[in-house]
Amino acid sequence: MAPNNAIMKSSVHKALNTIGDRWNQLILQEAFRGVSRFEDFRARTGAPRNTLTSRLRSLVANGLLEKRASRAGGARLSYYLTAMGLDLFDSTLIAWCWGIRWDAVTPSGPAGLVHTDCGKAMLPVMVCGHCDGEVSLHACRHHPGPGAGFEEVDVIRLHRRRQSASDERPRKVADVADMTGDRWTGLVISTQYFGVHRFDDIRAALNIATNILTDRLNVLVNSGVFERRLYEMSPPRYEYWLTKKGKDLYPHALALMLWADKWPLNGEQPSVIVTHRQCGQPVEAKMVCSECREPLTMDNVTERKPKERKAVGETA
Ligand SMILES: [Zn+2]
Ligand SMILES: [Zn+2]
Repeated sequence: MAPNNAIMKSSVHKALNTIGDRWNQLILQEAFRGVSRFEDFRARTGAPRNTLTSRLRSLVANGLLEKRASRAGGARLSYYLTAMGLDLFDSTLIAWCWGIRWDAVTPSGPAGLVHTDCGKAMLPVMVCGHCDGEVSLHACRHHPGPGAGFEEVDVIRLHRRRQSASDERPRKVADVADMTGDRWTGLVISTQYFGVHRFDDIRAALNIATNILTDRLNVLVNSGVFERRLYEMSPPRYEYWLTKKGKDLYPHALALMLWADKWPLNGEQPSVIVTHRQCGQPVEAKMVCSECREPLTMDNVTERKPKERKAVGETA
């Protein structure tokens, strides 16, 4: 059981503190698609001007973007991913892949991906850098790392984040950024990776208020990420389990965790060590093409254009 106002330390939480809310995540996704100018970010994300200004400032302050002269020339400064920002490519690929697979593409997000080396439409797959075996929730084992323990959280801040975004939020999550952009939702999902399924146990692990937990569980069940399982008849009590769609989020969390441990944020040690069951080695994730199993990089992944309609009378 966690001490008051403390939750289990997590590198994912650490990563998301650096990356920021849903707007920040949408901005980073666009930066990976080559967007660098303020007005283009605005057009692509739909962020109001003030919001975009403050989010770009926070991404620069956190070392994910840098502001410098435009590559295209001219007096205007543009925003480019730093080395630390570029290293979020794996998690970005997985977020896109999840959206494509589960029909939860971010507005204006890529509808499909192509591996230019093999020329095929594909989905990125996370494999182990040691044995090339697939990396999934069930293929991994979690051990406490040197930085394991509890950390104080600013509950008020976590709470407020969700409320400020609640006006426009449907009662379902729209995409990965929607889930990880709301910290409580992300934290509730992460308890599943540690085998915590019952309401009271999740509440205790996160020190989360009952009404907030009920709300986030409802959103996750409505979104098909969690399923309820009855384990006691009277009164009815439920456990919460990840669905197939929910389990498919695991590589995203793992990519963020590995990223946070590679770029020691606040100089902290890893709180969890993840090993791959198949080879017993600490996981070093690698993204490969589902079709040819060759590694994916920023230079060999492009977006699939929306299907063009065949002209009338055209033969195949
Ligand atoms: Zn392995
Ligand atoms: Zn390929």
